[in-house]
Amino acid sequence: MHELSIATEIINIVEKEASRQHLTRVEEIGLKIGALTGVNPDALTFAFEASTGDTSLAGVVIKIEKIPVKGECRACGNAFEVQEFVFICPECGSSDLKISQGEELDIDYIAGQ
Ligand SMILES: [Zn+2]
Repeated sequence: MHELSIATEIINIVEKEASRQHLTRVEEIGLKIGALTGVNPDALTFAFEASTGDTSLAGVVIKIEKIPVKGECRACGNAFEVQEFVFICPECGSSDLKISQGEELDIDYIAGQ
């Protein structure tokens, strides 16, 4: 399960970051997940809850912001949101695109005390 290994990695990063920030308790973790990552937010939340049960992060709230795919046309310079994974410029019909957004898998913030 893809999401389980991602959850494990996020837990590792958050635990390190929490100790760096001297947080005794992490209450909320904000994630940014691009549509192109193929990560299912519900599955990730579930994997996270399953993996944190016996750690210091048990009960932490996960807020996931889904990042839509955005592209930039190399032919005409048009910047647009890619709908339904159709990688074609709506202005000129070119398929020569630069993906500018949608591949993120980032920890946006860690909140706690
Ligand atoms: Zn174009």
